[in-house]
Amino acid sequence: MRINPDKCVACGNCTYVCPVGAIYIDPAIRRATINRDECVECYTCYNGLSQEHLNPSFVRGLRKIFQMMRLRFDPEPDVCPTAAFEPDELAWPRTVRRAFSDPRVPHESTGVHGRGTEEVKTNDVSGRVQLGEVGFTIELGRPGVGVWFRDIQKMSWALAKAGVAFEKRNPVTSLMSDVSTGTIREDILGEKVLSAIIEIKVPIQRAEEIIRLVWDVEKQIDTVVSLGVGARCDEHGEENTVAPILEKLGYNLERAKTNIGLGRATNSEVTHDQHVASVR
Ligand code: SF4
Ligand code: SF4
Repeated sequence: MRINPDKCVACGNCTYVCPVGAIYIDPAIRRATINRDECVECYTCYNGLSQEHLNPSFVRGLRKIFQMMRLRFDPEPDVCPTAAFEPDELAWPRTVRRAFSDPRVPHESTGVHGRGTEEVKTNDVSGRVQLGEVGFTIELGRPGVGVWFRDIQKMSWALAKAGVAFEKRNPVTSLMSDVSTGTIREDILGEKVLSAIIEIKVPIQRAEEIIRLVWDVEKQIDTVVSLGVGARCDEHGEENTVAPILEKLGYNLERAKTNIGLGRATNSEVTHDQHVASVR
Protein backbone atom coordinates (compact mmCIF):
# COMPACT_ATOMS: atom_id res chain seq x y z
CA MET A 1 0.00 0.00 0.00
CA ARG A 2 1.16 3.52 -0.73
CA ILE A 3 -0.08 7.02 0.02
CA ASN A 4 0.20 9.53 -2.79
CA PRO A 5 1.94 12.56 -1.20
CA ASP A 6 0.45 14.84 -3.87
CA LYS A 7 -3.03 13.92 -2.65
CA CYS A 8 -2.58 13.48 1.12
CA VAL A 9 -3.67 16.46 3.22
CA ALA A 10 -2.31 15.04 6.50
CA CYS A 11 -5.67 14.87 8.24
CA GLY A 12 -4.40 11.85 10.20
CA ASN A 13 -7.59 9.75 9.89
CA CYS A 14 -5.73 6.75 8.48
CA THR A 15 -3.25 6.58 11.36
CA TYR A 16 -6.03 5.29 13.61
CA VAL A 17 -7.20 2.44 11.38
CA CYS A 18 -3.94 0.62 10.62
CA PRO A 19 -3.95 -2.57 12.76
CA VAL A 20 -0.14 -2.60 13.05
CA GLY A 21 0.50 1.13 13.40
CA ALA A 22 2.39 1.36 10.10
CA ILE A 23 0.98 4.77 9.11
CA TYR A 24 2.41 7.96 10.57
CA ILE A 25 2.48 11.63 9.70
CA ASP A 26 6.03 12.36 8.57
CA PRO A 27 6.85 15.84 9.93
CA ALA A 28 9.56 16.32 7.28
CA ILE A 29 7.09 16.19 4.37
CA ARG A 30 3.88 16.86 6.36
CA ARG A 31 2.14 13.92 4.74
CA ALA A 32 0.92 10.53 5.97
CA THR A 33 3.50 7.87 5.18
CA ILE A 34 3.50 4.08 5.36
CA ASN A 35 6.38 2.19 6.94
CA ARG A 36 6.84 -0.46 4.24
CA ASP A 37 8.62 -2.88 6.59
CA GLU A 38 5.75 -2.88 9.05
CA CYS A 39 2.83 -2.76 6.56
CA VAL A 40 1.24 -6.21 6.28
CA GLU A 41 -0.85 -5.32 3.17
CA CYS A 42 -4.14 -5.94 4.96
CA TYR A 43 -5.94 -3.17 2.98
CA THR A 44 -7.79 -1.98 6.10
CA CYS A 45 -6.83 1.62 5.32
CA TYR A 46 -7.91 1.38 1.69
CA ASN A 47 -11.16 -0.51 2.30
CA GLY A 48 -11.97 0.76 5.80
CA LEU A 49 -11.96 4.47 4.98
CA SER A 50 -14.46 5.96 2.60
CA GLN A 51 -12.42 7.38 -0.28
CA GLU A 52 -13.70 10.86 -1.10
CA HIS A 53 -12.37 12.72 -4.11
CA LEU A 54 -12.00 16.28 -2.88
CA ASN A 55 -9.38 18.45 -4.53
CA PRO A 56 -6.23 18.26 -2.34
CA SER A 57 -5.24 21.91 -2.94
CA PHE A 58 -8.75 23.02 -2.00
CA VAL A 59 -8.71 20.97 1.24
CA ARG A 60 -5.21 22.18 2.18
CA GLY A 61 -6.25 25.78 1.54
CA LEU A 62 -9.37 25.34 3.63
CA ARG A 63 -7.38 23.81 6.48
CA LYS A 64 -4.91 26.73 6.39
CA ILE A 65 -7.67 29.34 6.48
CA PHE A 66 -9.34 27.58 9.43
CA GLN A 67 -5.96 27.33 11.17
CA MET A 68 -5.41 31.08 10.81
CA MET A 69 -8.74 31.60 12.57
CA ARG A 70 -7.61 29.17 15.29
CA LEU A 71 -10.24 26.70 14.10
CA ARG A 72 -9.93 23.21 12.67
CA PHE A 73 -11.27 21.74 9.49
CA ASP A 74 -11.21 17.97 9.78
CA PRO A 75 -12.96 15.44 7.55
CA GLU A 76 -15.27 12.85 9.13
CA PRO A 77 -13.12 10.26 10.96
CA ASP A 78 -13.99 7.39 8.58
CA VAL A 79 -12.95 9.25 5.45
CA CYS A 80 -9.82 9.80 3.40
CA PRO A 81 -10.92 13.11 1.89
CA THR A 82 -8.69 12.97 -1.18
CA ALA A 83 -8.55 9.21 -1.99
CA ALA A 84 -4.79 9.26 -1.39
CA PHE A 85 -4.37 5.48 -0.98
CA GLU A 86 -2.92 3.64 -3.94
CA PRO A 87 -2.60 -0.15 -3.64
CA ASP A 88 0.65 -1.53 -5.03
CA GLU A 89 0.78 -4.25 -7.64
CA LEU A 90 2.16 -6.87 -5.24
CA ALA A 91 4.83 -9.32 -6.35
CA TRP A 92 6.27 -12.39 -4.65
CA PRO A 93 7.26 -12.61 -1.81
CA ARG A 94 5.25 -9.58 -0.71
CA THR A 95 2.01 -11.24 -1.86
CA VAL A 96 2.40 -13.50 1.18
CA ARG A 97 1.71 -10.51 3.42
CA ARG A 98 -1.70 -9.93 1.89
CA ALA A 99 -2.65 -13.61 1.80
CA PHE A 100 -2.13 -13.85 5.57
CA SER A 101 -3.47 -10.43 6.52
CA ASP A 102 -6.58 -9.69 4.47
CA PRO A 103 -9.33 -12.17 5.44
CA ARG A 104 -11.12 -11.62 2.14
CA VAL A 105 -8.25 -12.90 0.04
CA PRO A 106 -8.33 -16.65 -0.65
CA HIS A 107 -5.02 -18.31 0.05
CA GLU A 108 -3.79 -19.85 -3.21
CA SER A 109 -2.49 -22.94 -1.46
CA THR A 110 -5.77 -23.82 0.28
CA GLY A 111 -8.56 -21.91 -1.43
CA VAL A 112 -9.69 -20.96 2.07
CA HIS A 113 -10.25 -17.29 2.84
CA GLY A 114 -8.00 -15.85 5.49
CA ARG A 115 -5.00 -16.88 7.46
CA GLY A 116 -5.49 -20.58 8.07
CA THR A 117 -7.52 -23.58 7.03
CA GLU A 118 -10.88 -24.47 8.52
CA GLU A 119 -8.86 -26.14 11.29
CA VAL A 120 -10.80 -28.37 13.64
CA LYS A 121 -13.97 -26.35 13.04
CA THR A 122 -14.95 -28.94 10.44
CA ASN A 123 -13.44 -31.92 12.18
CA ASP A 124 -16.81 -33.69 12.26
CA VAL A 125 -16.64 -33.72 8.47
CA SER A 126 -12.91 -33.92 7.78
CA GLY A 127 -12.06 -36.38 10.57
CA ARG A 128 -8.66 -34.76 10.86
CA VAL A 129 -8.40 -35.37 14.60
CA GLN A 130 -9.42 -38.86 15.67
CA LEU A 131 -10.17 -40.34 19.10
CA GLY A 132 -6.92 -40.56 21.05
CA GLU A 133 -5.49 -37.55 19.23
CA VAL A 134 -5.37 -33.86 20.01
CA GLY A 135 -5.19 -31.15 17.37
CA PHE A 136 -3.49 -27.85 18.07
CA THR A 137 -3.82 -24.54 16.27
CA ILE A 138 -0.91 -22.32 17.22
CA GLU A 139 -1.67 -18.79 16.09
CA LEU A 140 1.19 -16.32 16.04
CA GLY A 141 0.39 -12.60 15.84
CA ARG A 142 -2.85 -10.62 16.10
CA PRO A 143 -4.06 -7.17 15.07
CA GLY A 144 -1.80 -4.65 16.78
CA VAL A 145 1.20 -6.96 16.81
CA GLY A 146 1.78 -8.99 13.64
CA VAL A 147 4.50 -11.60 13.21
CA TRP A 148 7.55 -12.14 11.00
CA PHE A 149 8.00 -15.43 9.16
CA ARG A 150 11.48 -15.77 10.67
CA ASP A 151 9.74 -15.96 14.08
CA ILE A 152 7.10 -18.39 12.83
CA GLN A 153 10.01 -20.59 11.79
CA LYS A 154 11.34 -20.68 15.36
CA MET A 155 8.06 -22.32 16.36
CA SER A 156 7.90 -24.70 13.37
CA TRP A 157 11.52 -25.77 13.90
CA ALA A 158 10.86 -26.62 17.55
CA LEU A 159 7.67 -28.51 16.71
CA ALA A 160 9.34 -30.47 13.89
CA LYS A 161 12.18 -31.40 16.25
CA ALA A 162 9.55 -32.82 18.60
CA GLY A 163 8.27 -34.98 15.73
CA VAL A 164 4.73 -33.59 15.36
CA ALA A 165 2.60 -34.03 12.24
CA PHE A 166 1.98 -30.73 10.42
CA GLU A 167 -1.41 -30.36 8.71
CA LYS A 168 -0.70 -30.68 4.99
CA ARG A 169 -3.42 -28.29 3.78
CA ASN A 170 -2.34 -25.49 6.09
CA PRO A 171 -0.90 -22.35 4.41
CA VAL A 172 2.16 -22.24 6.70
CA THR A 173 2.93 -25.90 5.97
CA SER A 174 2.61 -25.18 2.25
CA LEU A 175 5.32 -22.53 2.60
CA MET A 176 7.84 -24.91 4.19
CA SER A 177 10.79 -25.92 2.01
CA ASP A 178 11.34 -28.94 4.29
CA VAL A 179 8.35 -30.13 6.33
CA SER A 180 10.43 -32.73 8.18
CA THR A 181 12.52 -29.95 9.80
CA GLY A 182 9.82 -27.24 9.80
CA THR A 183 12.05 -25.04 7.61
CA ILE A 184 10.22 -22.21 5.87
CA ARG A 185 11.17 -20.95 2.39
CA GLU A 186 14.09 -18.58 2.78
CA ASP A 187 12.64 -15.92 0.46
CA ILE A 188 9.69 -15.19 2.79
CA LEU A 189 11.51 -15.11 6.14
CA GLY A 190 11.68 -11.30 5.94
CA GLU A 191 7.92 -10.94 5.39
CA LYS A 192 5.59 -9.71 8.12
CA VAL A 193 1.93 -10.76 8.35
CA LEU A 194 -0.96 -9.95 10.68
CA SER A 195 -1.07 -13.51 11.95
CA ALA A 196 -0.45 -17.07 10.84
CA ILE A 197 -1.64 -20.39 12.16
CA ILE A 198 0.42 -23.57 12.48
CA GLU A 199 -1.72 -26.71 12.70
CA ILE A 200 -0.49 -29.98 14.14
CA LYS A 201 -1.79 -33.09 15.80
CA VAL A 202 -0.25 -35.51 18.29
CA PRO A 203 -1.40 -38.44 20.43
CA ILE A 204 -3.16 -37.21 23.57
CA GLN A 205 -0.31 -38.50 25.76
CA ARG A 206 1.93 -35.82 24.22
CA ALA A 207 -0.45 -32.89 24.80
CA GLU A 208 1.29 -31.53 27.91
CA GLU A 209 4.76 -31.84 26.36
CA ILE A 210 3.64 -29.88 23.27
CA ILE A 211 1.95 -27.14 25.30
CA ARG A 212 5.10 -26.72 27.40
CA LEU A 213 7.17 -26.56 24.21
CA VAL A 214 4.92 -23.78 22.84
CA TRP A 215 5.30 -21.89 26.12
CA ASP A 216 9.12 -22.12 25.83
CA VAL A 217 9.33 -20.96 22.21
CA GLU A 218 6.82 -18.17 22.82
CA LYS A 219 9.36 -16.52 25.15
CA GLN A 220 11.82 -16.24 22.24
CA ILE A 221 9.34 -14.54 19.90
CA ASP A 222 8.23 -10.91 20.01
CA THR A 223 4.52 -11.44 19.36
CA VAL A 224 1.43 -12.98 20.95
CA VAL A 225 0.74 -16.70 20.65
CA SER A 226 -2.78 -18.14 20.96
CA LEU A 227 -3.26 -21.84 21.43
CA GLY A 228 -6.38 -23.65 20.22
CA VAL A 229 -7.03 -27.25 21.26
CA GLY A 230 -9.35 -29.66 19.46
CA ALA A 231 -10.37 -33.14 20.55
CA ARG A 232 -13.20 -35.54 19.78
CA CYS A 233 -16.02 -36.07 22.25
CA ASP A 234 -16.86 -39.56 23.47
CA GLU A 235 -20.18 -41.26 22.67
CA HIS A 236 -21.89 -39.26 25.44
CA GLY A 237 -20.75 -35.95 24.02
CA GLU A 238 -18.15 -35.50 26.76
CA GLU A 239 -14.43 -34.86 26.59
CA ASN A 240 -12.62 -36.15 29.66
CA THR A 241 -9.12 -36.87 28.42
CA VAL A 242 -7.63 -33.60 27.17
CA ALA A 243 -9.62 -31.37 29.53
CA PRO A 244 -7.89 -32.64 32.73
CA ILE A 245 -4.47 -32.04 31.14
CA LEU A 246 -5.39 -28.44 30.32
CA GLU A 247 -6.79 -27.86 33.80
CA LYS A 248 -3.64 -29.27 35.36
CA LEU A 249 -1.65 -26.75 33.31
CA GLY A 250 -3.71 -23.90 34.75
CA TYR A 251 -6.22 -23.26 31.96
CA ASN A 252 -9.72 -22.30 33.00
CA LEU A 253 -11.72 -24.31 30.51
CA GLU A 254 -14.68 -23.08 28.54
CA ARG A 255 -15.96 -25.33 25.83
CA ALA A 256 -15.80 -23.13 22.76
CA LYS A 257 -17.50 -25.07 20.01
CA THR A 258 -19.10 -28.47 19.61
CA ASN A 259 -19.56 -29.79 16.07
CA ILE A 260 -22.21 -32.46 16.09
CA GLY A 261 -21.47 -34.00 12.71
CA LEU A 262 -24.87 -33.59 11.10
CA GLY A 263 -25.16 -35.77 8.04
CA ARG A 264 -22.73 -38.46 8.93
CA ALA A 265 -22.53 -41.11 11.63
CA THR A 266 -18.77 -41.52 11.57
CA ASN A 267 -15.87 -40.45 9.45
CA SER A 268 -13.26 -42.87 10.69
CA GLU A 269 -13.40 -45.40 7.86
CA VAL A 270 -15.06 -43.63 4.94
CA THR A 271 -13.52 -43.07 1.55
CA HIS A 272 -13.43 -39.60 0.04
CA ASP A 273 -16.44 -40.37 -2.19
CA GLN A 274 -18.51 -41.60 0.72
CA HIS A 275 -17.42 -38.55 2.64
CA VAL A 276 -18.71 -36.14 0.00
CA ALA A 277 -21.95 -38.07 -0.41
CA SER A 278 -22.70 -38.11 3.27
CA VAL A 279 -21.97 -34.42 3.70
CA ARG A 280 -24.46 -33.59 0.99
S1 SF4 B 1 -6.72 9.87 5.54
FE1 SF4 B 1 -5.95 10.37 3.47
S2 SF4 B 1 -5.59 12.57 3.50
FE2 SF4 B 1 -5.83 11.93 5.63
S3 SF4 B 1 -3.72 11.56 6.33
FE3 SF4 B 1 -4.50 9.61 5.60
S4 SF4 B 1 -3.88 9.51 3.45
FE4 SF4 B 1 -3.65 11.63 4.08
S1 SF4 C 1 -2.41 -1.99 4.21
FE1 SF4 C 1 -2.88 -2.51 6.37
S2 SF4 C 1 -0.88 -2.60 7.37
FE2 SF4 C 1 -0.57 -1.51 5.42
S3 SF4 C 1 -0.78 0.63 5.95
FE3 SF4 C 1 -2.81 -0.06 5.28
S4 SF4 C 1 -3.84 -0.65 7.18
FE4 SF4 C 1 -1.65 -0.53 7.66
